[in-house]
Amino acid sequence: MRAIHVDHVGGPERLVLQEVAQPQLTSAPDREGDGEVVVGVHLAGVNYIDVYHRTGRYPLPTPFTPGVEGVGVIRACSPTAGERGLAVGQRVGWVMTPGSYAEAALVPASKVIPLPDDIDDEAAVALLVQGLTAHYLAVDTYRLAPGEIAVVHAGAGGVGWLLIQLATALGAVVIATASTPEKCRLCRAAGAQVAVGYDDVGGAVDEVTDGVGAHVVYDGVGAATFPESLRLLRRRGTLVVYGAASGPVPPFDLGALMPGSPYLTRPSLADYIVADDLQQRARAVFTAYRARQLRPQAPTRYPLADAARAHRDLESRATSGKLVLTVTA
Ligand code: NDP
Repeated sequence: MRAIHVDHVGGPERLVLQEVAQPQLTSAPDREGDGEVVVGVHLAGVNYIDVYHRTGRYPLPTPFTPGVEGVGVIRACSPTAGERGLAVGQRVGWVMTPGSYAEAALVPASKVIPLPDDIDDEAAVALLVQGLTAHYLAVDTYRLAPGEIAVVHAGAGGVGWLLIQLATALGAVVIATASTPEKCRLCRAAGAQVAVGYDDVGGAVDEVTDGVGAHVVYDGVGAATFPESLRLLRRRGTLVVYGAASGPVPPFDLGALMPGSPYLTRPSLADYIVADDLQQRARAVFTAYRARQLRPQAPTRYPLADAARAHRDLESRATSGKLVLTVTA
């Protein structure tokens, strides 16, 4: 089968299409205690974490096939996975499992989400890593309440676009940031009351809150925005640094948290999809989609062979919404 292979970490040119052996159910089918499945991949989602895997910032043993999510159909199913209700021919999505930039992937059953018929592949792939992340950020990491002021950085991005929508559905007032007027327009289309460039966000928060500050700042940009994100908060506000698109936040003096006593967290999706959480959160995300509270943009599609171009585009900030690799029609 065809798969994207990374022999050595590095730039996008390291994403090379190769012929490799089909994945097989392993001889230890109870991996993670829940069995496993082999899926035929229709669409593989492209996420920023794939860049971190490719560059080695989040190391994976080499060689590896990147891509932590996708949608497709189960081709083979271990007995234990069958006992969990999974079956050959079933259409499913999966998350947090490297190996998805390929025609087939081996996935632990604990990471598989059966897909309802009314959610097509394009919608499903946008609702997986990025939809689940937007959900836990808005509902669990900080539970947004009506009328609260939330700042969402990189609001036109994959997570940001869905997070604006969920926050707005929960009654929050969203102030979004983005790098271009067109991306700011997208943020407003998602429901942001105000959308501005990064340099203007302080003024926007002051204006909307009469200088009091935001209840919560969702920051997926990291190094470039972190100091300003802290300044945007009201007293005892919450800063959620969930990503590092501009680079990781450097070590800092805890004393910087004394003025205003903010809460600071650096959450990870893996900790919000443990055991039954994954299926429950997926159901909540699908319900929000049906209620049109979550409206993913039509994804930007790339052929599997063009994975390197997808990474270049993502890293150059040229993209908005979801990027996917089309594997099989
Ligand atoms: P996006 O689609 O949001 O792409 C990143 C966006 O960040 C860009 O479009 C750009 O928007 C903005 N950005 C700002 N500065 C830079 C920079 N220097 N280089 C590149 N982009 C920049 O990506 P995702 O939604 O997939 O992920 C966003 C972040 O969230 C990533 O760091 C990702 O790893 C993280 N993440 C964390 C999760 C968790 O559970 N903690 C789960 C999922 C994602 P603009 O041009 O408007 O500035």
